Amino acid sequence: MSKEFVDVLVIGAGPSGCVSSSYLKKNNVNVKVVEKTKFPRLVVGESLIPRVMDHFDEAGLFPALDKMGFEKKLGARFLRGDEVCIFDFSDKFGEGWDWTWQVPRADFDNTLAQEVINKGIDLEFETEVIDIQFNGTDSITTVKSKDGETKEIHSRFVIDSSGYGRVLPRLLDLEKPSKLSPHSAIFSHVEDVNREEGEEGTLISFDIIETEVWLWVIPFSNGNTSVGIVGPTDYIDQLSENGDAAEALRKAISLSDYYVKRFGNVDFLFEPRHLKDYSCSVKQLFGDGYALTGNASEFLDPVFSSGMAFATESGMLAAKLALRQLNGEKIDWQKDYTDYILYGVDVFTTYVKEWYTGNLQELFFHRPENEDVKRKICAVLAGYVWNKDNPFVKKHDTVIKNLANLIKLEKQQEQS
Ligand code: FAD
Repeated sequence: MSKEFVDVLVIGAGPSGCVSSSYLKKNNVNVKVVEKTKFPRLVVGESLIPRVMDHFDEAGLFPALDKMGFEKKLGARFLRGDEVCIFDFSDKFGEGWDWTWQVPRADFDNTLAQEVINKGIDLEFETEVIDIQFNGTDSITTVKSKDGETKEIHSRFVIDSSGYGRVLPRLLDLEKPSKLSPHSAIFSHVEDVNREEGEEGTLISFDIIETEVWLWVIPFSNGNTSVGIVGPTDYIDQLSENGDAAEALRKAISLSDYYVKRFGNVDFLFEPRHLKDYSCSVKQLFGDGYALTGNASEFLDPVFSSGMAFATESGMLAAKLALRQLNGEKIDWQKDYTDYILYGVDVFTTYVKEWYTGNLQELFFHRPENEDVKRKICAVLAGYVWNKDNPFVKKHDTVIKNLANLIKLEKQQEQS
């Protein structure tokens, strides 16, 4: 079997792996990326949040992405019947980017991967990790190419950015059930022939069908739009009698008074994908000689589009810490990696849970709006979930519940 020797091996060329490998290359580390598929490939996760821009910028990937003309995302709109709540990222608490993009991931991820190659990084497509053996922090990874040939890659550190492939969680028995209740989604893309002119046509929107069920509408600059339904797994399963994903998505669209005219009669550009029980977790985020990043570690829920931001946040941090370790520093991975990442995960977990209890929806649609509360929540939705100056970050576990209870009390008093 042939052998290769690198300092860092990155598994997966999604956003997380591209950010990690670019940062390492920028710092003169001998890094290699192996990717199971051939790009462009379809993946879900099309609505970004501003925090990702910090990482693409720092990794030197921003200029290539910016040239692509992806649709700019300046905020997000939530709809519930006749009620509307619009967040504008330029009107948020604290520092941070005011905008990001909404993107067809096949094109976006392909741009990232090509830029990684342009930077001189050795990225091998159609190369799947099938085994890994650790000896202290050193490891030997066995990969298989599309024609079935295997080879060994010896490395001093492995960053597992394999997303839903979850390579190390599977091989090292690190899988752990998510604390969130099981939810599923079905989505596809449509040619958006009924798209309105102006902002209405391009605004990213989440239409609440029932408290726990919502439809996403993510328009792209190429004229297509992603449409998806999310809800408890039982609910999504029952949308079609025979498990037909296209029938289920059609039915979901018909439940949206706001969007049925726009999407009710258009064809899906690919057979809708059914993503069942998508939340996942792991027992640990690191071990001797490796770190798990992005969806290879924890995935919560799509409702606040936090997936890619965690993927790039963890990809960047794992790369920085790995670099310092390779340079001989002793790294406290528990404190500097796990505790840091899990703080942000905890904040978003609260927001996801409070979305599905309906408490956060109470806050979003309460009128008159409290501008101060809205700006602080907006900073969280932009992904700035490590800014403890923001009470909606620091006191996340109580503040939403308490405010929602006050609103409910106020409503009860009005009614009596
Ligand atoms: P990925 O983008 O999944 O990339 C991992 C790569 O690793 C893949 O290219 C894969 O082929 C490769 N790989 C897998 N196995 C192997 C192997 N054995 N060897 C080599 N390579 C391998 N996030 C958002 O930010 N916004 C959203 O709107 C959003 N919506 C979502 C909706 C749903 C229903 C779901 C389930 C998720 C959503 N997400 C969203 C989450 C988003 O998809 C992920 O968080 C994001 O893609 C993670 O990026 P990543 O780089 O970790 O992994």
